[in-house]
Amino acid sequence: MLKFFLSINYVDFKNWDEEESGKMDVNYRVDHIPRTTPNNRRPGTRMEPTTITIHNTGNPSSTARNERAWLTNQLNTRTASYHIVVDDREAIEVIPLNEVAWHAGDGSRSSSGNRTSIGIEICESGNYERTLQRAAQLVAELLLERNWGTDRLRRHYDWSGKNCPRIMNADGNWSGWDSFVNRVSQSLNELRGGGGTVSDQADDDAQIIDNGGVTMTVEDANKIIRFLSAAYMATSDREARREFNRLANELRKASGQEPVSG
Ligand SMILES: [Zn+2]
Repeated sequence: MLKFFLSINYVDFKNWDEEESGKMDVNYRVDHIPRTTPNNRRPGTRMEPTTITIHNTGNPSSTARNERAWLTNQLNTRTASYHIVVDDREAIEVIPLNEVAWHAGDGSRSSSGNRTSIGIEICESGNYERTLQRAAQLVAELLLERNWGTDRLRRHYDWSGKNCPRIMNADGNWSGWDSFVNRVSQSLNELRGGGGTVSDQADDDAQIIDNGGVTMTVEDANKIIRFLSAAYMATSDREARREFNRLANELRKASGQEPVSG
């Protein structure tokens, strides 16, 4: 059982000697904002999430606690929210993952990111490397829980064109994003019990599954799957959706990843 599932309201979990094991506990805490929070920040609308969207807070000094506090600060007049905020110490769930939050900047139609995606804010303060590690671990656990692959990951940018998560686009090429996705993929493989031997290369972009002659990189496969899933979401035709699922699974198999059920 993942520690992730054991979180209890307002209780902090101690980090389990993360230094020694090298494996980081997510340190997940639930602290929902009230339904009565002003500016419709928690509309309470039910959501069946189909993707996870990654953000940076855009604030170099705020911690997860600061961000959580801002959501219920009276000076805050914006209709903006998200589901989980992560920093180098903890992850705080501020809105239930099956409710709408306003984070994607793309309106409220039923296919919008706001109506379909779990929004995760990655803090820019503190030890960012550690924050990224924690975020990747958290995202991997969320994917595993839903039997999803990394093709379910989105940038805020994918929904609205905003330069977010901005730190992952520091070079203007989104290479930080690509390495984050690879990092999540690695965590996911570890959570699944090592499934496949991911070669641990210095260059994240060159991550290749060494698995019976498989040569397609996880990254390339997932890039193509991201294109496919855009088409998937643009149609409601069951047969078309099944076919997209099948094709995505072929790509997963070709890159040594586990197929997922549609
Ligand atoms: Zn964002």
